[in-house]
Amino acid sequence: MLPTDFALQVRGVTKSFGANTVLRGIDLDVPRGKVVALIGPSGSGKTTMLRSLNGLEMPDAGKVTVGASITTGRPALSVDFGDAAPSQKSRSQQLSQLRDRSAMVFQQYNLFPHMTVLQNVIEGPVQVQKRPREEVIAEAEALLARVGLADKRDSYPFELSGGQQQRVGIVRALALKPQLLLFDEPTSSLDPELVDDVLAVIKELAEEGWTMVIVTHELAFARQMADEVVFMDGGVVVERGPASQVLRKPQEERTQAFVRRLLHEL
Ligand code: ADP
Ligand code: MG
Repeated sequence: MLPTDFALQVRGVTKSFGANTVLRGIDLDVPRGKVVALIGPSGSGKTTMLRSLNGLEMPDAGKVTVGASITTGRPALSVDFGDAAPSQKSRSQQLSQLRDRSAMVFQQYNLFPHMTVLQNVIEGPVQVQKRPREEVIAEAEALLARVGLADKRDSYPFELSGGQQQRVGIVRALALKPQLLLFDEPTSSLDPELVDDVLAVIKELAEEGWTMVIVTHELAFARQMADEVVFMDGGVVVERGPASQVLRKPQEERTQAFVRRLLHEL
């Protein structure tokens, strides 16, 4: 049984693309309402890990458990990718069950270019979750206002700055009312002057008690925000611990080298 205060537990997740083994047995624990920052060099499997949590990627083995939801009363969900050869159908059911628990904010925003801001935000709740359209629109408008984008409701993504598009990306994730928010380098495509607005929104969400996993290269931000930092390299978790420890006094040589390199780039 999963302790009730856990939002997410990952055990032994592995994933290969052909001969390239990308995840080599990842364990991850995220307590309810906490922020975990996932850091690591390019190619270390961070995006693949997040996509596996969001049901966008099918792990080869391992188990992902999302804790029960206090707000919706939904029971815990456990997906075991190590199950002996289940049918294609039950596999895709497993993925959509997982996808239903979390929402992802992508590095490249991934907004639908032919849809307005509002249409982007309500698409998932209305089409996938089958929630009442009027109610979803009202919630979407409130969320847009919250991130300072009320007046962009009917704009198209190409009419927005990167920072505005990413704030729409965050609103789109929130509109799904997920149990977990997953961020994949949410500011790495942004011009430097647009980064702070997006980080401020994420920080507010953390203070509100959202459970979040954030892949980021913003070490200062991670140090400020994250309850725990997990350093991945070569498809394994090399080191994990409180942000103050992993970022300031890393124990492992690989973590030391990575942190030193990032700090020098700043
Ligand atoms: P990171 O986000 O840490 O940079 P990724 O998870 O994106 O790492 O990628 C890890 C490795 O997996 C890379 O070698 C990448 O080329 C490979 N990879 C990721 N997605 C795919 C895919 N869909 N098909 C084949 N290889 C992939
Ligand atoms: Mg990545």
